[in-house]
Amino acid sequence: GAKGAGRNTHHCFTLAMEAEVQARRALEQDLRAAFAAGDLELHYQPVLLVGSGRLAGFEALLRWRHPERGFISPAEFVPMAEETGLIDPIGEWVLRTACAEAASWPRSLRVAVNLSPVQFRNRTLAETVGRVLAETGLAPDRLELEITETVLLAENAANLAALHRLRSLGTRIAMDDFGTGYSSLGYLRSFPFDRIKIDRSFVSEMETETQAAAIVRAIVDLGASLGILTTAEGIETEGQFQHLRAAGCDEVQGFLFGRPMPVERVRRLIAEEAAEAAPARRAV
Ligand code: C2E
Ligand code: MG
Ligand code: MG
Ligand code: MG
Repeated sequence: GAKGAGRNTHHCFTLAMEAEVQARRALEQDLRAAFAAGDLELHYQPVLLVGSGRLAGFEALLRWRHPERGFISPAEFVPMAEETGLIDPIGEWVLRTACAEAASWPRSLRVAVNLSPVQFRNRTLAETVGRVLAETGLAPDRLELEITETVLLAENAANLAALHRLRSLGTRIAMDDFGTGYSSLGYLRSFPFDRIKIDRSFVSEMETETQAAAIVRAIVDLGASLGILTTAEGIETEGQFQHLRAAGCDEVQGFLFGRPMPVERVRRLIAEEAAEAAPARRAV
C-alpha cells in the first residue's frame, strides 16, 4: 500500500545519498592521489591590453585530467579541495609553479594566481607567498593575486591584515568576479585593490541587455575614478570587445583572444608576439 511505497521511496533515497557520499569520497581520494602523482596541471589564459592589443600577462588556471572521468572542472574540485584542506598544499604548488613559469617570461608580463578564501585561514599565507617569490626569483610586482569578495566577508580583520601583508610584499591584488557578491562597493572601501575583474556574467549580457552594458560602463568609470584598473572577463565576441573598448576598460580576457593553454603554447605565443614587435620597433 501507500505506506510500503513510502518506505521504499525513503529506502531508495537513502541509498542514492549513500552512493553519492561514496562517489564523493572516491573522488576526494582520487584528487589526493592525483596531486601526489603530479597529475594536476596549470594552464594559462592570455590577458590583453585594450590600448595596444599586446599581452599584459596570463591567468593561471588549475586543470585535472581524471583517468576515467576525463577533464574535471576546477569549479567542481576546488570546492572539494577546500573542504578537505587539500587547498593549502595545492594552492602553494599553484603559486610556486606559476611564479617559476612567469620568471622565464619577459619582464613586462605578469601572472595572476587565484587564492581561495580558505587559504586565508592559514596565518602563514603571506609568508608562503614571500618565500615562493624569493625562491623563484619573480619580481613581486609581476604577481597578481586574485581574491573574491568572500575573503572580506563580515569585515574579517585577520584576512584584511593578510591582504595588507601580501600587498607590502609588492604583489598586486585583484578583486575577481566583481559585481556578483552582495555588497561589492563596500569592499572597495576596505582595501585599495589594484584591479577589478568584471565578471563574465555582465560581459556575456552586454550586447543583449542594456542594464548589463550600463553596469559594465559604470564599473569601468568607478575604477577610473578610484585609480583601480579594470579587466573584463569572458569576452567571446567582437561586439563585446567593441563595447568594452568604448567603455574604456583597460584589459580583456576571454575565448575571443585565447583559451587557457598549456605552458608550451604560452611560450610560443610570447615568442610570436616578440617576433611581430621586433621589426616595428626597428622601423621606429
Ligand atoms: P575565475 O578565476 O573567474 O577564472 C575565469 C574562468 O572563466 C576560467 O574557468 C576560464 O577558463 C573561464 N573563461 C575565460 N574566458 C572565458 C570565455 O570567454 N567564456 C567562458 N565561457 N569562460 C571563460 P575555469 O578555468 O574553469 O576556472 C573556474 C574557476 O575555478 C576560476 O574562476 C577560479 O575561481 C577557480 N580556480 C581555477 N584555478 C584555480 C586555482 O589555481 N586556485 C583557486 N583557488 N581557484 C581556482
Ligand atoms: Mg580568477
Ligand atoms: Mg573571475
Ligand atoms: Mg569565477
